[in-house]
Amino acid sequence: NTQIIFAQIPTTYPEEGKHMLVKKSEIDLDAEIPQGSVLLKTLCLSVDPYMRGRMRDASIKSYSPAFALNQPMNGHVMALVLKSNNDKFKVGDYVYGMSSFGEYVVVPEAYTAGLEVRNEAKDSGLPLTNYIGVLGMPGMTAYVGLIKFGKPKKGESLYVSAASGAVGQLVGQIGKMLGLYVVGSAGSDEKVEHLKQIGFDGAFNYKTKDTKEALAELFPKGIDIYFENVGGKMLEDVIANANRYARIVCCGMISQYNTTEPYGVRNLIQVVGKSLEIRGFIVSDSPEMREPFRKDMTKWLLEDGFKYRECIAEGIEKTPQALIDVLRGENFGKQVVKVADL
Ligand code: NDP
Repeated sequence: NTQIIFAQIPTTYPEEGKHMLVKKSEIDLDAEIPQGSVLLKTLCLSVDPYMRGRMRDASIKSYSPAFALNQPMNGHVMALVLKSNNDKFKVGDYVYGMSSFGEYVVVPEAYTAGLEVRNEAKDSGLPLTNYIGVLGMPGMTAYVGLIKFGKPKKGESLYVSAASGAVGQLVGQIGKMLGLYVVGSAGSDEKVEHLKQIGFDGAFNYKTKDTKEALAELFPKGIDIYFENVGGKMLEDVIANANRYARIVCCGMISQYNTTEPYGVRNLIQVVGKSLEIRGFIVSDSPEMREPFRKDMTKWLLEDGFKYRECIAEGIEKTPQALIDVLRGENFGKQVVKVADL
C-alpha cells in the first residue's frame, strides 16, 4: 500500500524526498475493520494549492488544519468502498470527500462525515476525475466566488488570473455564460491560446507581457470584477486598472505561498478613492450553494459546451511531484492523480 507522507515543513517550495515522501507498506485487505469504519480503494485524488498552506507548524491556526508530521497527507478523492461497517456506505459505492493519500485507506467512523456517496459518477458519462475538479471543490470555488462575491451584472468586465487552472478556466466560462467581457492571464503562450479557444475575449502571458500595460490595453473601459488567484504585484496592477466600485474577489494568492518575502501592494490607497470592494472567501463556508452548483455545472458540461481541461498524473507515487507542479505552474488544467484504473 503506497502512501504519501508529510515529512518536513518547507520554508519555500516543497521538495519530494524531503518534505513529502512516498512510503510503501503491507496492508491486509482481508482484515476486519473497526465498527463504523469503511475500507476505501482510492481511484483518483486532487492536489491543490491550499495544501501548501497545510504544510505548516500545527500551532499556527488557519481555516484548514496543518498536515500532521510523519503521517499521510490528505485531500479530496474519489474512492470505491471495498468494505463497510457503516450504514451510510455500501460495498461498491463511489464516494467523494476527504481521505488520506494512500492506495487503500481505512476511514474511521469519526472521519466518515467528510465522505459522501456519489454513485451518479458511475453513469453520468463524465470522466471520474471530473468529480474532484469541475464537479468538486475547485468547480464550486469558481461558482461561489464569481456568483456570490463577484456579483456580476451583464455587460461588466471580468479579469481572471491563473486563468487556465482548475478554478480559473471555469470562472472565465461562467463569466461568458453570464454575459461578461472576460480576460484571463496565464504563464505560457500555450495556456493563453487555450483560453481564447474556450471563449475568453482576451488573454495574455503575464510572464512575457507587462501586466499593467496588458490590462490597460485589454480593458479600455477598466475592470469591474477581478477574480484574484495570484496576489502580489498582480493585485497592484489590477487596482491600478480597476473601475470605481469594482469587486476584487480574493480566492487565493499563489504567488505568495512559497516565499519568505511577501510582496507589499503599494497602491492600496486607491481602494478608498475608487470605492473598491476587496472580499476574501473560503469555498466551504457556502454550503447553501452546493446543490445549485452541481445542478448548473452538470448542465453546463453536458448541454452548454463547457470545457474542462485536466492534467493527469498516473500513479499515486506521482503525487508529490504533481503538487510541486501546481505550485510552480507546470500543470496545464486541473491537476489530478489517477491512483487506480477506473
Ligand atoms: P491552478 O490549477 O490554477 O494551479 C495553480 C496555478 O497558479 C499554476 O498553474 C500557475 O499557472 C499559477 N501560479 C503559480 N505560481 C504563480 C506565481 N508566482 N504567479 C502567478 N501565477 C502563479 O490552481 P487552482 O485553480 O486549484 O487554484 C487557483 C487559486 O484558487 C489558488 O490561489 C488557490 O489557492 C485558490 N483556491 C481557493 C479556494 C478558496 O476556497 N478560497 C479553493 C480552491 C482554490 P500559470 O502558468 O498561469 O502561472
